[in-house]
Amino acid sequence: MQVFKFGGASIANIDRIKNVAKIITEKATSPTIIVVSAMGKMTNALEKLNAAYVSKSEKINEDFQYIKDFHYQLVDALFESSHQIREVLNDHFVEMEWLLEEEPNPNIDYCYDQIVSMGEILSTKIVFHYLQSEGLSIKWLDVRDMIRTDNQYRSAGVDWDATTKAIKHNIGKNIENLPLIITQGFIAGSSENFTTTLGREGSDFTASIFAYALDASSVTVWKDVPGIMTADPSLFDDARFIPSLSYTEILEMADAGAKVLHPKTMRPIQDKSIPLHVKSFLDPDTKGTLISDQGPADYPPLIMCKTQQVYMNLSPSSFDKPLHFDMLFEIFKRYNTSINHIQRSAINIYVCFDENRQFDALLGELSQWFNCQHQKGLTLVNIRHPNEATILKMIDGKETLLEQKSKQVYKAIFKSL
Ligand code: ASP
Ligand code: MG
Repeated sequence: MQVFKFGGASIANIDRIKNVAKIITEKATSPTIIVVSAMGKMTNALEKLNAAYVSKSEKINEDFQYIKDFHYQLVDALFESSHQIREVLNDHFVEMEWLLEEEPNPNIDYCYDQIVSMGEILSTKIVFHYLQSEGLSIKWLDVRDMIRTDNQYRSAGVDWDATTKAIKHNIGKNIENLPLIITQGFIAGSSENFTTTLGREGSDFTASIFAYALDASSVTVWKDVPGIMTADPSLFDDARFIPSLSYTEILEMADAGAKVLHPKTMRPIQDKSIPLHVKSFLDPDTKGTLISDQGPADYPPLIMCKTQQVYMNLSPSSFDKPLHFDMLFEIFKRYNTSINHIQRSAINIYVCFDENRQFDALLGELSQWFNCQHQKGLTLVNIRHPNEATILKMIDGKETLLEQKSKQVYKAIFKSL
């Protein structure tokens, strides 16, 4: 059994959906689980709709209409006018309308998951019906019956035992008769049967969860790039394609900010040594990057960037409040903020972290214990396997707030790239 994952860009318009159908027809010749994200930028549009809903803004109708129009326009171009897909969409939109008429739940992350998850439901319904109309025998399954999570809405934690059981059961009873199964990325279900989500860009992780539970022979993530690159090609024009990487290397890259695969994707498939292919849906016959236990003997310098960073210098606000790392970590954890870099001296701690919506509250709490000075809007650059030439090119003409160098990694914080 193999697992395919198609992200939003691969199904962003009519031609791309047709292209995905062609890839599935040609490449899914053995039993395949197909994991699909919301179409194009629909998750962003749904986030906007949810923000309008919870703030009771008048923009809600306009935002909702935009989402409906996007899907109906696609359907008009892909299906005959009598096709049942229009009713299927109608039903989902009516369901959403009901939801939007209700008083928002005080837990705004709960609201987020109920609304934003619709992107994946709609996309998989459209792709499923389109594949069927193209003559493929395929089954649509609701992932919320298979991936079971806690109720940490917006970044739910997977219950691995329950999930593995449910996936084996649901896939097992269908795959014998229908070797193609389509389901949703990113979304899941809590034990109380509410919809949860796994975090933005979480569909890669979904593919990995299925591969783990089913001991799949491989996972293929279809993207709009030829594979993994040495840097983000939109930022660095000398970015090069990498044919193979180890799980550990890609994990480090994702952790350092490479937006190649969701960081949670690697561990489950590494645990079972399942090969992961990153391939281009624009050029499906090329080999792409293979991620496995075995990486190449030598790596070229790999450049990763994290933008919107805060760099903070903390020192105790009085002599009877010593520098406590434990407390610092505990506070950051409570505000869902992960520290990307940390350094200390006898009287200072320097931390670099993502600026998120909890920043003001986090700063408020830290200020009770520490004198805090910070700068925002910075970029943290990580170069793995650095060489002198790459470092020199990187720092050329830039204002540096921090620089740290070891044989394996070069790190720097810049005002801008
Ligand atoms: N649709 C979700 C997002 O855009 C999940 C994903 O694409 O992986 O974040
Ligand atoms: Mg997406």
